[in-house]
Amino acid sequence: MKQKCHLESWGMENARHGASGRLSKRAARGLSVLAVNQHKSDLVGIMTQNTARQLSSMQVILAQPRGFCAGVVRAISIVEKALEKYEAPVYVRHEIVHNKHVVEDLKAKGARFVDEISEIPAGAVTIFSAHGVAKEVENAAAARSLPVIDATCPLVTKVHLQGKRYIGQGRTLVLIGHAGHPEVEGTMGQIPAQVYLVQNEVEVESLPIPLDTPVAYVTQTTLSIDDTRGIIDALKRRFHDIVGPETNDICYATQNRQMAVRELTKIADVILVVGAKNSSNSNRLREIGEEAGIPSYLLADGSELDPEWVRGSRVIGLTAGASAPEAMIQDVIDTLRGIGPVEVTSLPGVEENIEFRLPPELQSLQTQQVSR
Ligand code: SF4
Repeated sequence: MKQKCHLESWGMENARHGASGRLSKRAARGLSVLAVNQHKSDLVGIMTQNTARQLSSMQVILAQPRGFCAGVVRAISIVEKALEKYEAPVYVRHEIVHNKHVVEDLKAKGARFVDEISEIPAGAVTIFSAHGVAKEVENAAAARSLPVIDATCPLVTKVHLQGKRYIGQGRTLVLIGHAGHPEVEGTMGQIPAQVYLVQNEVEVESLPIPLDTPVAYVTQTTLSIDDTRGIIDALKRRFHDIVGPETNDICYATQNRQMAVRELTKIADVILVVGAKNSSNSNRLREIGEEAGIPSYLLADGSELDPEWVRGSRVIGLTAGASAPEAMIQDVIDTLRGIGPVEVTSLPGVEENIEFRLPPELQSLQTQQVSR
């Protein structure tokens, strides 16, 4: 895993392109936060020179990283490789990832999406989504002898294993997550014991668990880092014998995208998050923008952009949830161009270089790239 932060080089890069010259006052404040003091005088000079242009165009600043994570790339690749190896149709239980564009694209290639195992014809190739499934879903597929390929993200599987380990140690398990989310249903359904779900600090206080019980916690992978920290602290205040992962189970992709959107809040007048309404990690990105006091909106693509959202804004921060294709970000930029002149630059940030292996039955096809 290669994760390198380039924040220190951002000022120089933007000075070279003249991009920061078109930033608003908020943007200038953000630059100082980004520790580019050594370049400050250069930047101020560029900003002065570019004042006229600044007034006439919108500055779109892309978060880095944004969009597809390794788990989503793997899940999409699994469906594509399965279609290649076994031919259409293959059946996917639940949306493979929470994005209608991804789902429609795979449908066009021959994938069929179902809610229940009972809807899948006998003998058809069956794929479980990236969110993971409960044991009873695995059992239902096994009872019908369906050939299953599991696209559960390895980081979700890790949480399942962690939860089972804690139960094996005789602890009562608390899951921090959102009720009804498929990942939460899958995790609760994988643990061979009662699991207590908490969604916020208030719910910690009403947990029906005796205070001297040995407790452990695990978390959904796509939560807000800050909210989760508060809930973990509340659990630790309530239960004295409690263990959990070092901080939480929030995955690298969720954390990196939340960090990147925080950088955007320092410079943007408005934040647009490309992602589906039912995408947990996309919703968290929008909330982080709102919590920082920046008007923030979630949209699936350019067609959902309301021009009122960006009226009068000079700096538009643009990011995307882990299941949103880069093409939809471009679609939003194209829509913004229909409103007025747009300059696009990208913040530096963590470089992600993570790749998950395909399941054994598809590994011989791994060398080909997933289409996005
Ligand atoms: Fe896996 Fe994280 Fe991507 Fe979810 S957001 S699929 S846990 S890498």
